[in-house]
Amino acid sequence: MSAPCLAPVTTHRTAGPLLEVDLAAVAANTRLLAGRTSGALMAVVKADGFGHGAVDVARTALANGATWLGVTSVVEAMPLRAAGLRAPLLSWLNPLGADVATAIASDVDLAVPSHAHLLEAAAAPGRARVHLHVDTGMARDGAAPATWAALCAAARRAERLGQVQVVGVMGHLGCADDPSDGCNALGRTRFAWALETARAAGLRPAHLHLAATAATLTDPRTHHTMSRVGAGLVGIDPSGTTPLRGALTLTAPISSVRRVRAGTPVGYAHAHHTDRATHLGLLPLGYGDGLPRAASGRAEVLVRGRRRPLVGRISMDQAVVDLGDRPVDPGERVVVLGPGGAGEPTTAEWAEWAGTIPHEVVTGLGRASRVSRRHRIGHHLRGLA
Ligand SMILES: *Cc1c(COP(=O)(O)O)cnc(C)c1O
Repeated sequence: MSAPCLAPVTTHRTAGPLLEVDLAAVAANTRLLAGRTSGALMAVVKADGFGHGAVDVARTALANGATWLGVTSVVEAMPLRAAGLRAPLLSWLNPLGADVATAIASDVDLAVPSHAHLLEAAAAPGRARVHLHVDTGMARDGAAPATWAALCAAARRAERLGQVQVVGVMGHLGCADDPSDGCNALGRTRFAWALETARAAGLRPAHLHLAATAATLTDPRTHHTMSRVGAGLVGIDPSGTTPLRGALTLTAPISSVRRVRAGTPVGYAHAHHTDRATHLGLLPLGYGDGLPRAASGRAEVLVRGRRRPLVGRISMDQAVVDLGDRPVDPGERVVVLGPGGAGEPTTAEWAEWAGTIPHEVVTGLGRASRVSRRHRIGHHLRGLA
C-alpha cells in the first residue's frame, strides 16, 4: 500500500485544553469511503469540517480520493476558495438573497430547491452551475415532488437562455442509518422518478447524488454518480456497520488537586457528594468548550491510563474529576476524548452519555473558542496514556 498523501500541518503550543485533529485518520477514512463506491466522492466539510477544520479536512480528503467539496452555503464555501482549493464545490441551503454572484464568479455550484432560488440563480451575472434538489422524503430541504416537474421545466428554459447550466440532481435520505427502514426504498424510488422527470424535461445532469455516509457504506443502489460524505470522513459511521477512525483527541491539564472528606458536596446544586475521602482534580473545560453538560453524572476521562469519573455538574468553564486515592500533579494532562485506542472515552461514548449523536459532540468541540486546535498526522496518545 502506498503511504497516505497528507496535507501540511500547522502546530503551536498550548498549556490549556487542546483539541488535536489526526489528518491520517481523515485520509484513511476517505480512502475507505472512496473504495466503497464506483461513483465520485464529495467531501462534505460543512460546520467547519464537522468541527475538524474545513480547509484541512478538505485538503486531506482531496488528496485521498475525494474529487468534490460540499458545504451548506456560499458563506461556508468562500473560505475554501480563499484557501486556494480549486476542486468542484457545491453549496446547498443558500437562503434567498444569498450572494449568488460571488458564488458564480468563484465557480461555486448552487443547489436549487425552488423556483424562487432558480430565478435568483438565473438573474445573477454569469451562468450559474446548478444542481436541482428534490425532496426525497424528509419534508426539509429540496423541492416538494408536486413542484418538481415545473421546476425542471423552468430550469430547462433558463438553460436554453444561457442563464444556468443544470449539472446535477440531488436528493437526501432521512433513514439511511437504518438500512432496513422502508423509508429508504421510498427515497430511492422518488429519486429515480425525479431523474426521469428531469430527463423528460430535456435536462442532462451529469452528477446524480443521493447517498451520504450511511448509504454509501450500506446500499450501492443509492450511489448513482456521486456520494456526499461528511461524517464518515471524520470517523463517524451513522450506520454502525463499518469501523472508521476517529480523528479527534481532546486533552486538558488538571489545573488543581484537592483532598476532600467523604460527603463533600461538589459543584453547582451539590449534585454530587463524595462517597469517601478522595482527591478531586479540576479540569478547565466545560460546556462553553463543547463538553456536553447533559453528560454530567455519567462522563469519564482517562487519567494516567485509567478511567476516572467526572463528578457533579459540568459547568460552563470547568469540570471536576474524582481521582480517588491516586492524585496527579497539577499540570498533568488527562484525555477527555479520543479515538479509543488507549482506553480513553470516544466521541460515541460522550454522545451516549449526553443522549445525543457524535455529530453534535464533534461540532460542539470544534467551535469552542477557548480550546486550541492543532492538526497532526498519526497517533497522538503515545506518551500520554
Ligand atoms: C451533511 C449532509 C451530507 C453529509 O452527510 P453525512 O451523513 O455526514 O455523510 C450530505 N448531504 C447533505 C444535504 C447534508 O446536509
